[in-house]
Amino acid sequence: MATKRDYYEVLGVSREASDMEVKKAYRRLARSHHPDANPEDHGAEERFKELTEAYEVLSNAEARRAYDTYGHQVPRGSANGYPGGYPGGDQFGGFQDIFETFFGDSFGGSFFGGQTSRAPSRGADVETEVEVSLREAAYGADREVNVQIVKNCEVCEGVGGTESHTCGTCGGAGAVRTVRQSILGQMVSTQACSACGGRGRIIDVTCDNCRGGGRVSDLQTRRLRIPQGVETGMRLRVSGAGHAGEPGGAPGDLYVRINVTEDPELVRDGEDLIHRLKVSFVGAALGTQVEVPTLDGPAPVSVEAGTQPGATLRLRGEGMPRIRGRGRGDLKVVVDVMVPTRLTGEQRELLERFDEVSGEETYNGGGGSFFDRLKGVFR
Ligand SMILES: [Zn+2]
Ligand SMILES: [Zn+2]
Repeated sequence: MATKRDYYEVLGVSREASDMEVKKAYRRLARSHHPDANPEDHGAEERFKELTEAYEVLSNAEARRAYDTYGHQVPRGSANGYPGGYPGGDQFGGFQDIFETFFGDSFGGSFFGGQTSRAPSRGADVETEVEVSLREAAYGADREVNVQIVKNCEVCEGVGGTESHTCGTCGGAGAVRTVRQSILGQMVSTQACSACGGRGRIIDVTCDNCRGGGRVSDLQTRRLRIPQGVETGMRLRVSGAGHAGEPGGAPGDLYVRINVTEDPELVRDGEDLIHRLKVSFVGAALGTQVEVPTLDGPAPVSVEAGTQPGATLRLRGEGMPRIRGRGRGDLKVVVDVMVPTRLTGEQRELLERFDEVSGEETYNGGGGSFFDRLKGVFR
């Protein structure tokens, strides 16, 4: 008999490992070393057996105590030992119980990569895109989107035939269970029925509408509400509006990707909006009344005398709605001061005359206090 490896080593846990840690280690290793998951690897069965044996001992408090005391040489039938000796070798037999505890009926299923899951599969998701204006992004909008999806044929209800009978091989279940004996004990696995292709029915008369495929392509129009505050790149999910699943399976979802078109006058900055306002240097110096675009149409704004280039006027609550939380951001109006590029003789004379009567205090706040000027900037 080959020398046995230390059970703790086999499971990769410390001698102080809790029951939960032992269980977790076994569960993890059992999945990757299961012979069905490693059909090409002839050592897999041996490794799996070793693993299960180690688990059986270490998960049983009495057996673990005995193992800790005696190691592999536990006296058979000893009062301190594991009754009837350790599982393993010829004694090995507790495997199925353990396996069922862990994996229940899913054993043999898709768990180990087998072709066996026969729950009708869910339909695939579809994605489409909608363009919305900035205003629509702010206030929300109702939109219709067209999506090409695959749905189950309504003539044959996805069966593929207008006349069919229950498959005799699987009795209509679409799957067959096979039981085989192996060194590890009885293994039950479930596989798609090859006679009916997993449908559970044998087609007698093929459906003309879907040519036997059971599925047809369909252009569907969906109305959807674009919620306020959306941004480019956000995706809305319309549950169940994707491709149909197999008969009995749930449909996929529709994802609608939002693309907010750029506005020529309002640029989004998170929950705020920015508008660049052009004001002549005279208007900035003397003060002026202007209109600025907002989401709700033009709004009057006063540019105070002495407004500097780059000054920002803040219109509170005129920005984008906050997606989380209440209220709206602000509209920030950034002042661009326009300086003339072509002057007539008369204009030049006037400016020269202005310059003659101006001094440093004209530009450095000679008139009014610092706070008076600040008020001109933030209204
Ligand atoms: Zn059909
Ligand atoms: Zn069948």
